[in-house]
Amino acid sequence: MVDKSLIGMLVVLNAIAAGVLYNRFHDHPQVQLIESHVLEWYHHVFPPKTPDRCGALKWPSYVLVSDRVVFPDGDVRPGAVYIEGTKIAEITENTTVTVPHVLNFKDAVISPGVIDVHIHLNEPGRVEWEGMINGTRAAVSGGVTTLIDMPLNSDPVTTDIEQLEAKKKLAKTKSFANLGFWAGLVPGNAHNHTRLAELLDGGALGFKSFMCPSGINDFANVEADDIAAALPFLKARGVPFFVHAEVVSEVEADKAADPTEYATYMASRPPKFEQDAIRLLVKLLEADSSVAAPGFLVHVAHLADAEALEIIREARGRGLPIQVETCAHYLTFSAEEVPQGATQYKCAPPIRGAANKDALTKAVASGEIVLVSSDHSPAPPSLKETQSGNFLRAWGGISGVQYLLPATWTALQAIGVDLRGLALVLSEEPARLAGLASRKGKLAPGFDADIVVWEPQTPANTSVALNRHTHKLSPYTDRPLMGKVIATVVGGELSSLFGNVNQQPCGTVITKRD
Ligand SMILES: [Zn+2]
Repeated sequence: MVDKSLIGMLVVLNAIAAGVLYNRFHDHPQVQLIESHVLEWYHHVFPPKTPDRCGALKWPSYVLVSDRVVFPDGDVRPGAVYIEGTKIAEITENTTVTVPHVLNFKDAVISPGVIDVHIHLNEPGRVEWEGMINGTRAAVSGGVTTLIDMPLNSDPVTTDIEQLEAKKKLAKTKSFANLGFWAGLVPGNAHNHTRLAELLDGGALGFKSFMCPSGINDFANVEADDIAAALPFLKARGVPFFVHAEVVSEVEADKAADPTEYATYMASRPPKFEQDAIRLLVKLLEADSSVAAPGFLVHVAHLADAEALEIIREARGRGLPIQVETCAHYLTFSAEEVPQGATQYKCAPPIRGAANKDALTKAVASGEIVLVSSDHSPAPPSLKETQSGNFLRAWGGISGVQYLLPATWTALQAIGVDLRGLALVLSEEPARLAGLASRKGKLAPGFDADIVVWEPQTPANTSVALNRHTHKLSPYTDRPLMGKVIATVVGGELSSLFGNVNQQPCGTVITKRD
């Protein structure tokens, strides 16, 4: 028997929700609604309860229109993006759209969704640090549509097939963004190609290693002989080898130095660590004569030292397959501005001086650094030593996936990079690294409908109130950044709008390279 009072209540609640959304639209000058179907749609996208549906997108197809669309050739001009199911059906310059379901975003920019290839969601095992739900919701609200998760700091770490399967299973019901996984390459599996093959066959997109202690006991760092043993396998399979490139050596420590001063921490991890590691990687690449299938390369994670670029430039000049990323925080902050005891700025390798920051930014603009990631890696405030402000004891890692787009844009637009250049380093190159370039990274017919609509000239809101990470401690808090995200589409689903994130996880688990 149907409970009539319950139905009555749901009708009223739906009507209220629809009314609120209707008003929100009409209060917002950026969005022009065509046809009243939109109201019905929103009524279903944000119902008071969504027990079993993912956004409940009623329309089989709809169209996004704006005066500034980043076309697949990189050019920015007025256009219409036709979405059918999970895919982009068409992208056209003809903005006279006659189909009933249209969102016209006027002069807001329609860009390919951001792909963050470097994030630590820490699930399973350390959801008190972050977690798939909060981490991916934060990502989506910031315009990030696809994430590739690192094999640590989950517990257990992802170094064998059972652990990968566990992550995939969790992601199916928890991820608001598309989510793929890097597997860990550690001394325990580097010499066993069968175990490595199981991880790739199970859906890992490539491998990640540390050349220095990772901080997690179960994730030991590799030595030269481990890398040498794994290289022929990685090359034969055509997958990237993602490396935390720092080799730790003796540094002269000033025992009297104040651990709450950032300079003390910086001195403990000098640029030499990065340079030594990259030199070793180059040497190992040179020494290996096996044949590489397309897709293989050494990908140096989070470069912080601009001088090390010279080593990579020289190696690439000789045709060696090595490339490098940096992170948004290295383009945003400089050592000079880190306040005493502000451990939210601690990461490894460390944020270095302002001149170094400028050199890294230029290298991204010139394409020498191929992509920018967040390396979102939060930890609870107790581990960040917020009470003591002790940089040497604090856990390293910066929280910031939600701000990847505005932080990168703010840094790059200041030196003249345009929307096309931004899409290259935040979408196209990351898609290539993850083996997804035939379906992600561009707004092209047949590609996945992963899209961000945003206003490059409007400040991003970086207040704690809108921070969706599990922990709010972040150096980005209240940082003036340009670029406000209006809407995010994940696999054809409108997953966030004006800061509201859809209530159901709509992400797809990515388990296959092109
Ligand atoms: Zn990392």
